Amino acid sequence: MPRLRVAVVPVTPFSQNCTLLWDDETKEAVVIDAGGDVPRIMEAVTKQGLNVQALWLTHGHLDHAGGVIELRDLLNARPGHTPVDIVGPDRRDAVLLDNLQQQGEMFGLKGLRNVTPDRWLAEGDQVKVGTHVFDVLHCPGHTPGHVVFVNHALKFAQVGDVLFQGSVGRTDFPYGNHAALIDAIKTKLLPLGDDFSFVCGHGPNSTIGAERRSNPFIQ
Ligand SMILES: [Zn+2]
Repeated sequence: MPRLRVAVVPVTPFSQNCTLLWDDETKEAVVIDAGGDVPRIMEAVTKQGLNVQALWLTHGHLDHAGGVIELRDLLNARPGHTPVDIVGPDRRDAVLLDNLQQQGEMFGLKGLRNVTPDRWLAEGDQVKVGTHVFDVLHCPGHTPGHVVFVNHALKFAQVGDVLFQGSVGRTDFPYGNHAALIDAIKTKLLPLGDDFSFVCGHGPNSTIGAERRSNPFIQ
């Protein structure tokens, strides 16, 4: 089986874990949550010689989606490059993606551009990096349209701002819902199994087992 490689590039003043996934053999790649600091993401793409095929979004917050249009345009301007699609999140985050520029100005971040995805995602959809298949889980609560990407074969997930090492996503922003978030974690993420590892939107990686045992928010 071709190997899936993972690299994290921290971006924006919020240290968001922009995540590169690629097939080691073919260099087919996706970038999850290109929130900003696009030159740094491009540097990682170039260094690994990646052929980026899509930009996936977990949700519509500015630190996750604020650099997506800039990155897409840079990638598409490369000679011979196949057009890159913006994929996800669930349509319920359109209200956030339509206001990225405004969100950015509130935080003093300039140059953010609103995003209209080429493809919205929904629970049960599948997306691919080369031959690696990821299932899409809709995990609302942090935002209404938050999605999580799950690879069952490799027991690996990118969970955005749903679950962190020792914490969970904030729900004090507009459209947040703490009960929905905890429900999504308990009914969709914990059942994946203790041996699943995940990259999250901020901070270190963890495993489902470690969070099930010790995360104070889900006991
Ligand atoms: Zn967020």
